[in-house]
Amino acid sequence: MADSYDLVVVGAGVAGLLAAVAARRLGDRVLVVDADSLAGGSTALSDGMMWLPDAQAPRSAPQDSVEDAAEYLDALLGSTTTASSAERRAAYVRTAGKLARWLISSNIPLAVEKGLGDDRPDLPGGRTGGRVLATQPFDRGVLGEWDDALRPAVEGGRGFLSRVLPGGRVTRTAGEALAGHLLHRATANGVDVWLDSPVVALQGGPDGITGVVVRRDDADVTVDAPRVLLASGGFERNQDLREEYLPLPTDAAWSTSGARNVGDLLTLAVSAGAATACLDEAWWKPVMLAEGRAWALDDARRAPHSLIVDSAGDRFFDESLPANAAGRALYERSRGMRAVPSFLVMDNRHRQSTPLGPWTAGSTPKKALDAGEIVRAGTLNDLAQALGIDRAGLLGSVVRFNGFASKGKDLDFSRGEAATAAPGDRGRRRGGSLGKVDKPAFWAVKVYPGDSGTKGGLVIDDRSRVLRADGTPLPGLYACGGAAASLFKGTCPGPGAALGAALVEAFLAATDRPSA
Ligand SMILES: Cc1cc2nc3c(=O)[nH]c(=O)nc-3n(C[C@H](O)[C@H](O)[C@H](O)COP(=O)(O)OP(=O)(O)OC[C@H]3O[C@@H](n4cnc5c(N)ncnc54)[C@H](O)[C@@H]3O)c2cc1C
Repeated sequence: MADSYDLVVVGAGVAGLLAAVAARRLGDRVLVVDADSLAGGSTALSDGMMWLPDAQAPRSAPQDSVEDAAEYLDALLGSTTTASSAERRAAYVRTAGKLARWLISSNIPLAVEKGLGDDRPDLPGGRTGGRVLATQPFDRGVLGEWDDALRPAVEGGRGFLSRVLPGGRVTRTAGEALAGHLLHRATANGVDVWLDSPVVALQGGPDGITGVVVRRDDADVTVDAPRVLLASGGFERNQDLREEYLPLPTDAAWSTSGARNVGDLLTLAVSAGAATACLDEAWWKPVMLAEGRAWALDDARRAPHSLIVDSAGDRFFDESLPANAAGRALYERSRGMRAVPSFLVMDNRHRQSTPLGPWTAGSTPKKALDAGEIVRAGTLNDLAQALGIDRAGLLGSVVRFNGFASKGKDLDFSRGEAATAAPGDRGRRRGGSLGKVDKPAFWAVKVYPGDSGTKGGLVIDDRSRVLRADGTPLPGLYACGGAAASLFKGTCPGPGAALGAALVEAFLAATDRPSA
């Protein structure tokens, strides 16, 4: 006999776990299945920031409101589209604050991240702070038998995401804390969680989805449910789908997402008649490659005594831009130039003072140099030669950049001046990311247009119901987070927008009732 639940959630990342907790609270019998042997998805590896305007959380900007957030989103997003409909935008701003307060009242403590503003605070309704929230530290011990089932934030354990409390107890922060809190709430309140259990088919078809088929212990198990929520992430780990949809060149190895997100549910839902949108978009993030994985370069590219050039040795953007805009800049440049990879060129002060990929400030392992993950040279000339960068181009760019640095003003790209540069320059004076590149040794790493997940997916409405091409809901099927087409189009409203949207959409799906 088939198992039967009120709601089956596919994916135990933050979106899936939040939906499970919310639906269980309303009395639903809920099953969460995940293909991975660990819960947490890419969320557990994330920075755990959530863009939730009007949260009125501790330290929130008191003057925030649903109306201001709506004005900001409209100014940022422009015209509406199927995925970025007026209804979805309204649902986001209406639900974000409510959700934040619901989480806090559910003993999932959140607080505003100081110093982090919207990506475009200059737009109407934009804010320079107060909308980005983070989960407070989490003690994995409370998970009991589920402790082993939660993905640790940094596999290999560098431990910078831990915090040691008085008495020696270690707590976890960032995305791992958020996933941990939610996994604890789910398992403690009677949600069934099956790990190592990929969904291999959807039950039903274009007339409606009635359940899923789960591969469990090498057997296919049918689970009936009137509501199936796809919280199965994006397709960032699927090279074929990347090449089909994302701008080229593209490589699954450039994604910082650690989850097994290969888009299999996307394909299954499309076969059942679901519409898709935004498949050429991702949450762009300039990355470097080392030790077999991608590392975000956000802090390193914003720190002084560095610049980014293309293969001609030319600068082409404000290196301190927010991640999404910086990643896009790499692709835009590569339309006319060899700009993938580009090069982050640093002088010795940068290497001595700023962490870079897996390496702490001042420490560069010989094996990284031997593997060519980072290049060091006594002169810029030699550095250019070692990397195949045009030498005259690089020297000219550095001379010009150093001139700007001594005047404290970047006349080409206004580095560090835009209000948008705020997230990377916490605590630094305006323009403080400018600094001469003139103290040997010189260093460089290759910069790729990586991502922290894809952004396109199934088209959903303001209740997170999956829509068919004719705009009608596909009965029984919901999607959220990485599995859904983002309402933010090619933009990013602020740090934490991916998680913010994943949570809001999951909440809307969990609290929707088909008859309503
Ligand atoms: C390094 C890093 C830092 C980031 N920092 C931030 C941040 O600070 N703020 C922010 O907003 N965003 C951030 N992001 C992005 C954010 O983490 C993701 O957008 C978000 O976690 C997506 O959540 P999700 O629940 O939709 O998917 P995921 O957390 O990826 O979960 C999807 C789950 O579905 C499972 N799954 C997939 N296919 C199947 C299947 N067939 N059957 C069963 N299960 C399946 C996967 O195993 C996975 O566990 C970051 C991402 C990375 C990689």
